[in-house]
Amino acid sequence: MTRNADPVQERVLSDILTQNSQTEYLRRFKLNGASDRDSFKSKLPVISYEDLQPEIQRIANGDRSAILSAHPISEFLTSSGTSAGERKLMPTIKEELDRRQLLYSLLMPVMNLYVPGLDKGKGLYFLFVKSETRTPGGLLARPVLTSYYKSEHFKTRPYDPYNVYTSPNEAILCPDSFQSMYTQMLCGLQDRHQVLRVGAVFASGLLRAIRFLQLNWRQLSQDIETGTLNQKVTDPSLRECMGKILKPDPELARFVRHECSKESWEGIITRIWPNTKYLDVIVTGAMAQYIPTLDYYSGGLPKACTMYASSECYFGLNLNPMCKPSEVSYTIMPNMAYFEFLPHDPNSAGFTRDSPPKLVDLVDVEIGKEYELVITTYAGLCRYRVGDILRVTGFHNSAPQFHFVRRKNVLLSIDSDKTDEAELQKAVENASRLLREFNTSVVEYTSYADTKTIPGHYVIYWELLVKDAANSPTDDVLKQCCLAMEESMNSVYRQGRVADNSIGPLEIRVVRNGTFEELMDYAISRGASINQYKVPRCVNFTPIMELLDSRVVSTHFSPALPHWTPERRR
Ligand code: AMP
Repeated sequence: MTRNADPVQERVLSDILTQNSQTEYLRRFKLNGASDRDSFKSKLPVISYEDLQPEIQRIANGDRSAILSAHPISEFLTSSGTSAGERKLMPTIKEELDRRQLLYSLLMPVMNLYVPGLDKGKGLYFLFVKSETRTPGGLLARPVLTSYYKSEHFKTRPYDPYNVYTSPNEAILCPDSFQSMYTQMLCGLQDRHQVLRVGAVFASGLLRAIRFLQLNWRQLSQDIETGTLNQKVTDPSLRECMGKILKPDPELARFVRHECSKESWEGIITRIWPNTKYLDVIVTGAMAQYIPTLDYYSGGLPKACTMYASSECYFGLNLNPMCKPSEVSYTIMPNMAYFEFLPHDPNSAGFTRDSPPKLVDLVDVEIGKEYELVITTYAGLCRYRVGDILRVTGFHNSAPQFHFVRRKNVLLSIDSDKTDEAELQKAVENASRLLREFNTSVVEYTSYADTKTIPGHYVIYWELLVKDAANSPTDDVLKQCCLAMEESMNSVYRQGRVADNSIGPLEIRVVRNGTFEELMDYAISRGASINQYKVPRCVNFTPIMELLDSRVVSTHFSPALPHWTPERRR
């Protein structure tokens, strides 16, 4: 496939356009059954999610006509990217599962080229399903991994010695995140000598598992000692399945207690699972912030980033998975969708009607250049901007390899949440309303994703203008401001706080007056232009953090969980 990347791409496009030729969408743009690149490129516009909102809404409301795809939309995959505060709904069709499965099936053969003997043990993977809802028209809406784990592809997968997990399906499929994590950890501890790789989807998920062990090792050791299951695990099918797995093992219980009660948790992963050859977690993109913590807990084990995928489409895999995180490149698989690349110029003001963007085909991208990924999928997304910025690092045969640079417009991210500048601005505005009765306003603010705590949390630095010192806002008021900010965040953030426990309480750090002026002076001393200086709305450069932290006069944490339910607000 990578040798024939261009012909494969041409065929994929032709297949998609032929399959969907009678859809309302392709007819609207008068493709008239054409399936060649030139007609496609000249007639179809490059779009974003917002452009498709009306069609998506109609499908969600139950319109089963062939709007985007000739094949029936089987469900919606809920992306962690949001639109108007709610997860984007990505239409998918049944056959997409086969395509995703194909990509998964390539992962271990690639890994096997670099790490021998992975068929001689097990993988300890912390995998979870999340809540699902139905749209008004009755279609399921759930995250892509939930859809995959609940599919027959996953549940009834044939035995494969390279893909034996310590976690039973019942534990992965348990909707209660505590019970799921508890039993997955218990099985991982019980099989500790057999574990050859430890993983989660994202780095943040693996660290959450370590934190879980820190909080629950006493109960876990108790269960191991007696061979019984903690009463907090109530799911009947999980209890039944664990009943068959658990065996009393006092020696293992002693070992776990001994290791976990030590003051230092440095290298805990290799102490408990001594045969681990690598961590299987994504540490590229926003997840790079977790590399030092993972290194601390694992004694610097290799971190394999195996694939690059999304709710819209699975893109490709890392053909050199044991490389350093900074060198990870993903090879886009030419059979997954039709891929185009929008040259990305960070300094350009964008595109206008008169200067439409010139998109480049998969095999025509140039090494060293940055592009935004644009996809056309079998499920009916046409020339859809994913929002990821990629840099070409090389080629595998004729298929290009990409470094994931970043996702556009993301200011803060702890787990799968993505908060942009407008959302943060709105949150600050909403929270600062609580300060009005104290004659106080927020004169400047910036933010920081603090990942030193597990789970990580958002820190917002506020410089306040207090007009009446005798009536300045109290700690209680500022705590309420933290909560008000959390209430304003998008649903992925709030789900992370409430259901997944993947994000900790938001913190406001009030800095003393004049701090943001000092910040500007610092930037100017480093060469920023006075005229063009803008307060950075997110910071992570150590000297700036040190400056801000040295000026903190008080800190306040959100005292409660924000509101969240699986149902969409709209
Ligand atoms: P979602 O739509 O919630 O499935 O999220 C998909 C997005 O996650 C992608 O568009 C990327 O921005 C990000 N992502 C997925 N895989 C990777 C990866 N291997 N490295 C960095 N970011 C990734």
